[in-house]
Amino acid sequence: MTDLTLVNANVLTMDPDPSARPRASTVAIAGGRIEALDASTGVPAGSGRVVDLRGATVLPGFHDAHNHMVGFGMSLAEVDLRSAAAGSLDELYAAIARRAETTAPGDWVIGAGYDQNKLGAHPNRDALDRAAPGRRVWLRHTSGHMCVVNSPVLAALGLDAAATEFPGGRVATDSGGRPTGLLEERAQLLVGSLVYPYPLAELTQAISRAAEQYLKEGVTSCTEAGIAGGWVAHSPAELAAYQAARDAGELRVRVELMPAAEVLHALGAHAGDGLVAGLDLGIKTGFGDDWLRLGPVKIFADGSLVGRTAALIDPYDADGPGPGNGPGNGQGRGYLQADAADLQARIIAAHRSGWQVATHAIGDLAIDVVLDAYARARQEFPRRDPRHRIEHFAVAQPRQVARAAELGVIAVPQGRFATELGDGMLAAVGPDRHGWLYRQRSLLEAGMVLPGSSDRPVVSGAPLLGIADMVNRRTASGAPFNPGEAITAQQALYAYTRGSAYASRQEHVKGSIAPGMLADLVVLSEDPTAVSPERIADVAVLATIVDGQCRHDAGAFDGLS
Ligand SMILES: [Zn+2]
Repeated sequence: MTDLTLVNANVLTMDPDPSARPRASTVAIAGGRIEALDASTGVPAGSGRVVDLRGATVLPGFHDAHNHMVGFGMSLAEVDLRSAAAGSLDELYAAIARRAETTAPGDWVIGAGYDQNKLGAHPNRDALDRAAPGRRVWLRHTSGHMCVVNSPVLAALGLDAAATEFPGGRVATDSGGRPTGLLEERAQLLVGSLVYPYPLAELTQAISRAAEQYLKEGVTSCTEAGIAGGWVAHSPAELAAYQAARDAGELRVRVELMPAAEVLHALGAHAGDGLVAGLDLGIKTGFGDDWLRLGPVKIFADGSLVGRTAALIDPYDADGPGPGNGPGNGQGRGYLQADAADLQARIIAAHRSGWQVATHAIGDLAIDVVLDAYARARQEFPRRDPRHRIEHFAVAQPRQVARAAELGVIAVPQGRFATELGDGMLAAVGPDRHGWLYRQRSLLEAGMVLPGSSDRPVVSGAPLLGIADMVNRRTASGAPFNPGEAITAQQALYAYTRGSAYASRQEHVKGSIAPGMLADLVVLSEDPTAVSPERIADVAVLATIVDGQCRHDAGAFDGLS
């Protein structure tokens, strides 16, 4: 029996089947699934609720293919260093001072989202000491790949007066060798040793806060890009926080979890099984159900482009601030997070053990290392349709696009980076490499699948903002951001629905509107393919339906919730 029928709708089905209908006007939902499209398909008249959408546009729910849900939920309770109130270093220090007033001495003042490209420099430990006397201060860079701490934190780490070497990272110092407070990449694990693990209840609350926001923005599914290990982890038992959220009815959006590579280990199974890297019980990619499942394993090959730690073949552009330009960092070429041979061995072991692999690779040097590993993995341990991914794929030469396509690799770029990080990226690579930045169109032309993602909380995560940027490709200052890679609104919508579902190996249950698919839908005020590109970001989310239930209702229609 039909539960809900949406009529008088402008349905964009995103169904790739050429014989299927690309548009429809009626969607019938039963038991959490799409039952039928349009009256001709035999929806029984008069059963269930019927809601007149008065011409509103319906799409499959958006799937953010790369985000950090716990990190985003936690950032909602931290000092927001992205906001205009922290637009200069002085304003940032003032914001920290305000939070310090309501923080007990010895406790933490935590902020996230600063960008030294916008501030002119990274915040400094001495100024943070003055802003928050007696408190511990920890400010994360917008990329997540570096952070700044103040003197009490450095003292607790034994780094007050002098730095130590840290493999895969760096403790930055001034010309006199005194730490400045900046900790890059894996050196962030040092702060982690003081704050982690977080109590699971705190993580569960963060998940709930994040889900609430996601539903308002039309997100019905997301992929969490790294849990339980490395510097992205909040607890080694992070999956339990998601399970608790689900048990409490607080999960509300479907989540795919990427365990960090650090938590994979030899399983002691029969040698002939080839399980050289896995999780206890032998669970791996695909385990779980439609609400909560394990996705690929997440591996970091390099760092951040705006933070200038990502590994490039040729040096960063000489202008502008950046720790990657310092001596000892490959003469300003950034660096890998581990030895290339170690990274490749880890990728191949995960592939051999049956995992889908998602490797973070930003710079062209890191991309080469990862493509080599994927090629060797395929050759040495052939497997059908492994769908390995490269997260970001930020500085990609034409030969690398061709090779990624040939290897069946899915590149996962972030549309919204254009506006929020684009100016810093253009400066980091210099004009000769602008055409290599965050490709989209050339990936589609090479026959690759393009997912949609935000990397939230690195930038704003609302899919319509990402979709607008995928089409418009402009930076905050108004500069064109590699505009030859712009795509159409239809292609961007397809990325955020069907493309992301494919990257999650879930295209048989979600990402398009067809009988039998999960009833995850978003209702929009206007059709993004019919408004001018400048107006896509203004399209409103009127309702979000997950599993056939209306989970966000802006009140535009009678009888929806
Ligand atoms: Zn990320």
